[in-house]
Amino acid sequence: MNIARVLYPVEVLGPGKRLAIWLSGCPHHCPGCSNPELWAAEKYQKITVGKFLEAIHQIFVQEGNEIDGVTITGGEPFFQLDELEKLIMGLQQYTNDILVYTGYTIEELLEKNNQKIIKLMDVIAVLIDGRYMEELNTGCVLRGSSNQVIHILNESMRETYEKYLKLPNQIQNFITLDGVISVGIHTPGFNRELKHKANRKGLIIKRGE
Ligand code: SF4
Repeated sequence: MNIARVLYPVEVLGPGKRLAIWLSGCPHHCPGCSNPELWAAEKYQKITVGKFLEAIHQIFVQEGNEIDGVTITGGEPFFQLDELEKLIMGLQQYTNDILVYTGYTIEELLEKNNQKIIKLMDVIAVLIDGRYMEELNTGCVLRGSSNQVIHILNESMRETYEKYLKLPNQIQNFITLDGVISVGIHTPGFNRELKHKANRKGLIIKRGE
């Protein structure tokens, strides 16, 4: 599986302290995408789902860190359907709050008539679907643009998400060995402005969806 980055605790891509996973590889190429570096699935990002789940087990079970939910984004998570299925099936032992972003609409996914997709729809708690449209980026909570739809597939999560969606949009910055990764739903001008300021100071900025 191609995994580009993993961060914890992410609090701006769903309720609680979440494990956020960015998968690489995306066929949609939405103009203005905040993560074009994730369109290509790079070889060095490959890890087996089994090894990844082992690491997660170590962090969350053996070291006792709390996990309130998981957010899977990218990239296009459904671009690696076989691995995505194994990943989600493995992660459901830690939480029933699994939020997945996809550039496909839910109708496009279901039209594929693929049993793995149908199975995943029973396990995913929340699916946020649709291409990113920069002109519709109006600062919606959890959505990059207002055409995207938040599908609450697990009714037991509805109250938690409805409460979360009333909060203001927030950005969270992580300092990593590679530099700063800014996570959350950014306004369209933010990327250009940040890049401009960073270039002037000789810094490299990475952004998360
Ligand atoms: S916004 Fe999402 S779906 Fe669209 S190109 Fe970027 S990563 Fe792919």
